[in-house]
Formats: sequence, C-alpha cells, structure tokens
Amino acid sequence: MMKHVMVDLETLGTTASAVIMSVGAVKFDLTTNEIDETGFYASISIDSNLDLGRRIQEDTLMWWFKQDAAAQKVFNEPKVSLESALVDLSDWIGTTDYLVWSNGADFDIPMLAHAYSQIMVEVPWKPYSARCMRTYKNLPGADRVRIEKAGISHNALADAINQVRQLQAIHAALFGKKKVTA
Ligand SMILES: [Mg+2]
Repeated sequence: MMKHVMVDLETLGTTASAVIMSVGAVKFDLTTNEIDETGFYASISIDSNLDLGRRIQEDTLMWWFKQDAAAQKVFNEPKVSLESALVDLSDWIGTTDYLVWSNGADFDIPMLAHAYSQIMVEVPWKPYSARCMRTYKNLPGADRVRIEKAGISHNALADAINQVRQLQAIHAALFGKKKVTA
C-alpha cells in the first residue's frame, strides 16, 4: 500500500523562511519497491516567495551558480505562485493520511509547514506523520546500501524519486524478510 509520500524542495536558503523554488513529491510503499513516479512537481516564482516575506540566502544562491546547467533549469521553468503550488500539493496528497518523508528533519518539511502557515492553510499531513529519511540513512548498516541515482541531481522530483529508491533499499536491507525474534 502506498501510504508514504517523499517530498523534496529546492530552495534559496536553509532556514524555515527560505525561498522555495520547487517542490517534488512521490507516493510510495516502504516495504516493497512500489513507487508512483508520476508524482507532483511545481516550479515556483521567486517573487511570490518574496511577497510572503520569504528570504534568499547569499551562500545558497552562490551554491546554485556552481550546479549543473540541467539543475539550473529550475530558474527558467514556467512558474506558479507559492500559494497555488501549496494548494496543488494539498490537492495531490488528498485526504489520505500519508506519512510524509524528507531527507532530514530540519529542512523540507518544516520549510513547507512554515510556508503553509504563511498562507493560513493547514499542512496536508497529521502533526505526527512527518518522517526523517536521514535517520534511516544513519541506522547501523544503512551506509552499505547503495543505489544507482537516476535523472537530474537537484531536480526536486528526481531527488524525491532517488530518495525513495534509497529508502526502500535501506528498508529491504535492514528489515526485509528478516524474522524479528523476541
Ligand atoms: Mg533536492
């Protein structure tokens, strides 16, 4: 059952109030390799972020200058406003109670939550449904699990898909098929 969602943001900063340039998300199952790669993607106007008081951090902007041209395409994509991207993400998630994952407990999810609060819309997940992939990556033995990454690195949707593949591989390696003994 696909009861999980992986989200990835590309941003112009690392704080909760940073400018969000794009959102990628996919639904997946943790215990099989099922994944809906169609997913969700929104490229978001910087101006609409600034209008809400969100901020650009210089060091993150400098980091973007050093990335591949393929990743930098995010700056030239057709844009929607941050508000409509968030509403679209909520619609895409729907009314199912998904567990929502991101790579780290302190980046994508709190950033999204901050943005949702700015537009006075509730986050499309329960307050106890956020999950941290980085914690999984740091479980004993998880560092031995390697996957072949696909697509453009630092494209939010490609990153979300790669993160799911890695999470599923870690789960299978550490917990798959093994009998838990008392
Ligand atoms: Mg990313």
